[in-house]
Amino acid sequence: MPQRLRILFISPEVEPFAKTGGLADVAGALPKALARLGHDVRVLMPKFRGVERHAGALTPVIARLRVPIGDRTQEGALLEGRMGQVPMYFLAQDHYYDRDGLYGTPEGDFWDNCERFVFFCRAAVEALRVLGWTPQVIHANDWQSGLVPVYLETLYRDDPALTKIATLFTIHNLAYQGVFWHYDMPMTGLGWDLLTPAGIEFYGKINFLKGGLAFSDLLSTVSRTYAREIQTPEFGCGLEGVLQERSPVLHGVVNGIDYDVWNPASDPAIPKGYTAQDLQGKRACKLALQGELGLAQEPVPLLGMVTRLVEQKGLNLVLDALPGLLAEGVQLALLGTGDPALEQAFSQAAREHAGRVAVSLGYDAALAHRIYAGADFFLMPSRYEPCGLGQLISLRYGTIPLVRWTGGLADTVIEFDSGKQTGTGFGFAPFSHGALLECARRALTVYRQPGLWTRLIRNAMAADFSWEASAREYVSLYRKALKAAAP
Ligand code: ADP
Repeated sequence: MPQRLRILFISPEVEPFAKTGGLADVAGALPKALARLGHDVRVLMPKFRGVERHAGALTPVIARLRVPIGDRTQEGALLEGRMGQVPMYFLAQDHYYDRDGLYGTPEGDFWDNCERFVFFCRAAVEALRVLGWTPQVIHANDWQSGLVPVYLETLYRDDPALTKIATLFTIHNLAYQGVFWHYDMPMTGLGWDLLTPAGIEFYGKINFLKGGLAFSDLLSTVSRTYAREIQTPEFGCGLEGVLQERSPVLHGVVNGIDYDVWNPASDPAIPKGYTAQDLQGKRACKLALQGELGLAQEPVPLLGMVTRLVEQKGLNLVLDALPGLLAEGVQLALLGTGDPALEQAFSQAAREHAGRVAVSLGYDAALAHRIYAGADFFLMPSRYEPCGLGQLISLRYGTIPLVRWTGGLADTVIEFDSGKQTGTGFGFAPFSHGALLECARRALTVYRQPGLWTRLIRNAMAADFSWEASAREYVSLYRKALKAAAP
């Protein structure tokens, strides 16, 4: 029986408590998968407004947690709840976290984000000194927890309760780094000697993510291809040098999805369930979706998109390719929210092509399920994509992904080969709408051959991206981190 590990998973967002993106999905599912493998895993996140709705009654475990912030002490508390079998620690500090929005409002980021997440990181470390439970491994995620490994290696280096903790830091999206002006340095409590290229300095500013990259025992990101890409200037967002230096300890582990939540056979959000053997329900889901969104209920190929409306997702390619796609007779159903200019452009397209293009602006989990189930294809022409969950969900629902070959998209979708009848989707490499169109035409050729099409759907549904395999890979990284951290 391999040793049971004590793991503290630190994440700013965890589904279902608080979510802005894919990290929340990971943080909601990976800890449960680790627990199923027998490990003692616990999760720490801020007590954002509304988490109680999903967490039920919370029990205080540290009633008064005193955390140094610059030359002041800021008080918080640690409350315990549960996520299935997994203990959840919520760091409460209402002045920082009891607000609408996690990091800001539509007008922009909160002005005190540096302070809010200095507090989060430092409180995490302070809590471990008094909690009565010490993890062997801390798994920190994204810039919001980037200072945790820094504190462990500097201010708390000689704390006997903390010295042996190994750290793994995971990058879910390198583009979000938590960069703040240097005047905030005293608030971190870290010495000015850390505001240097070898420390957390980035073009004269403080960079939380860089802290995570430079001070953790092991690094990972959410696909092998993205792990390679971020070491190049094109994808490195200015941190490619640091990542090249740390290349020997940088790993790629692809995300899974929660197969209980995403299951076309039992999904309560879709009008009719279905399986790979019996796809009748999928046809019913498509008809219902067309009806719901005001699309013509015709047997034409339906492209779905569920996405943040940001430049990263290649939405301009979709807008440019739209006339060509419509000429092929397809319909488009898009659910998303984000950049006002993109929201406007897609709304305009929906008005111009009523009955053929449907655009729903907003965040709507249930509609997302119905699009994953009801569409024939799922479009993800991202400029870059650390892992991507949309294509994994759509595979599970037999909705064929059309992707750009980048990051996790390249690692999880396999081009369909009509001759061998292998593969799960279609992809293209150049970031151009012409390449997207050409890819869509290839896909439509298969769509029009019912025998081949059913085979492709079954291949997609047979792909396995449940969390178990990825959770096992993380366990082997935790063990590696422990070895790396051993004195
Ligand atoms: P990212 O983390 O870059 O946003 P991912 O593909 O990794 O992209 O994860 C996005 C997740 O958020 C998926 O689970 C997707 O279904 C969901 N999602 C994105 N936009 C919406 C929306 N408007 N409504 C509902 N779910 C959404």
